[in-house]
Amino acid sequence: MTDWKNEIRAAIRSHGIRYVRFLWCDNAGLIRAKAVHTAFLEDYLEGAGVGIAAAQQAVPVMVDALASGSGLTPAGEVHMRADWSTFTLLPYAPGHARVLTDIHEGEAPWPHCPRSFLRRMIEWAGQHGWQIRAAFENEFYLLRREGDRVVPADSTVFAQTAALDVLAPMLEELSSALEAQGIVPEMIYAESGPGQFEMPIRYAEALRAADNQIIFRETVRAVARRHGLIASFVPKIFPDKAGNGAHLHFSLWQGDQNRTADPRRPEALSLEAQTFIAGILHHLPALMVFTTPSPNSYKRIRPRFWSGAFTCWGYGNREAAVRVPQPPAGRPITHVELKTVDPSCNPYLALGAMIAAGLDGLEQGLDPGEPVQVDPADLSEQERATRGIRPLPASLGEAIAALEEDEALLQALGPELARSYLAVRRAEWEAMKDLPHEEEVQILLERY
Ligand code: GLU
Ligand code: MG
Repeated sequence: MTDWKNEIRAAIRSHGIRYVRFLWCDNAGLIRAKAVHTAFLEDYLEGAGVGIAAAQQAVPVMVDALASGSGLTPAGEVHMRADWSTFTLLPYAPGHARVLTDIHEGEAPWPHCPRSFLRRMIEWAGQHGWQIRAAFENEFYLLRREGDRVVPADSTVFAQTAALDVLAPMLEELSSALEAQGIVPEMIYAESGPGQFEMPIRYAEALRAADNQIIFRETVRAVARRHGLIASFVPKIFPDKAGNGAHLHFSLWQGDQNRTADPRRPEALSLEAQTFIAGILHHLPALMVFTTPSPNSYKRIRPRFWSGAFTCWGYGNREAAVRVPQPPAGRPITHVELKTVDPSCNPYLALGAMIAAGLDGLEQGLDPGEPVQVDPADLSEQERATRGIRPLPASLGEAIAALEEDEALLQALGPELARSYLAVRRAEWEAMKDLPHEEEVQILLERY
C-alpha cells in the first residue's frame, strides 16, 4: 500500500510546491489561510499544527477588532491541524497547495472550531443510524470594475446562452480547476441577474460537502481574478436584482441506501425525512443565524424571489423554505432542498446546525404538516396561520433573538461556540443595521 505521506511528498516535489495553505473558515464566514513553507513539511506531516490567536474566532467581517462578549481574549493560542486527506494542489496558484484543517487546543478539538462542530453533528446522526449527504448549490455574480463602480460582467438573463459564450474562457478554466480538486460540476448556466451564474456540484458525504463549499468559493474567486473579474457571493448585491442563494441539498442515508423517499411511494418523502424536515422548519428562524448569517442576507429573503421566505415545505414549490425537488417520471425522490441558505454562511456551521435541527425533529417525532403546493405569499395571513406557516425573520436581529431562545440549537453548539458565534453575529448586526446599502456591499463584496 502506498503511504499517503509519500504521495504528498512526491506531489510537492514533482510540482515544485513551495507553500501549503492551511485553511479555516471563521465565525464571520470568512475563509482564511496561513501558508506554510514546504521546507518544514515533515513537521506538519507528523501532526504539528499552525498557530492562530484564539481571539481570531471573535473577529467580525467588517473590522479587525474583537467582538465583545465572545469569551475570547487576545491571550491564547490554538492550532490548525491539517486534515491531509483534503490535500490538493491549487490549479489557479502555481507553487501553492492547500489543506483544510481542524482547530485544536492542545490535543483536543477546540470547542470553537466550526469543522469539529460539524464532525460532532455527523457523529450524532451516526448514533441515530443516519448519514447525511449534501451539496451547496451556489449562485454568484461576476463583476467588473469600471472606474470606482462595479458592474455586472454581462447583461444576460436566466439561462441565456450568450452568457456561456461571453465568459467561456473563464468558465472553462473554472470547471477544469474544480475537477482537478475532485469537485464535479453538474451544470452551469446563467442565473436571472446580469452577470449571475449558478453552478450545482455533485453531492458528497456531509464533511466533504462543507469542505467542497470552501473549495468552491475559493476557486471561483481566484479564477475570476485571473480573468480580471470579481466574483462575489454576497447574498444581495443589487437591491432590485436576484440574490445569491446557496440552497442546501441533502439526503438521508443508511449505509448505501438513500432513505429520503418513502419505499412504498417513492414519489413521496419517507416518514423519517418528514420528521427531519419538521425539525428544520421548527428551528428555522433560529437556524437562519447560521444559514443566512449576514445582515445583508435578509435583503435576499423576500417573497417571490424563490429564496424561501416562509416556514413551509412543498413538492417542487420554489417559494417554500423546504422544497422537495421532483424527479423525472418513474424515478424516486432523491433529496430535499433548504432554500433559506446563502453563500456568506460558514458551511460547517450551517450544515452542522441544520443536521442538529433535523435530528431534533427525528428525536421528537415532529410533523411538518401538509405540503404546501401554492405560493405561500398568495395565502391570506389567516390561512397561513391556520396551516402553521410563519414568515421568517426579517432581519439578522430577529434571527439572533430566535436563536437566543432555542435551547436545542444552543446545546448542540456547546456553550463556547454559541457564545463566540453569537458575539460575532451581534457585532455585525449592530455595525451594519443602519448602513446604506452601497456601503454595506462595499465592505462585503470581496469578503464573500
Ligand atoms: N436566486 C434565488 C435565491 O436567492 C434562487 C433562484 C433559484 O431557484 O435558483 O435563492
Ligand atoms: Mg438558482
